Amino acid sequence: MNGKKSLEIKKDWCKGCGICVAFCPKQVLALDADEKIEIVNIDACISCGQCELRCPDFAIFLGGNK
Ligand code: SF4
Ligand code: SF4
Repeated sequence: MNGKKSLEIKKDWCKGCGICVAFCPKQVLALDADEKIEIVNIDACISCGQCELRCPDFAIFLGGNK
């Protein structure tokens, strides 16, 4: 790990279910005014992968440094 956080979101694919927000252990994610996913605190992300795993619409995923 080089400490660089890489989380990608596809707002167009997000249906606003809130699952990722609920499962993120670090409150990195939130829904915006249009009920689309947004990253509100990337510094807190521990790259656990729960958001990617739980999103039913593949709208969020970890990128880069594997
Ligand atoms: S990888 Fe884990 S800590 Fe980071 S946003 Fe997703 S659920 Fe939250
Ligand atoms: S789990 Fe996926 S579809 Fe649901 S709010 Fe999160 S990014 Fe959007």
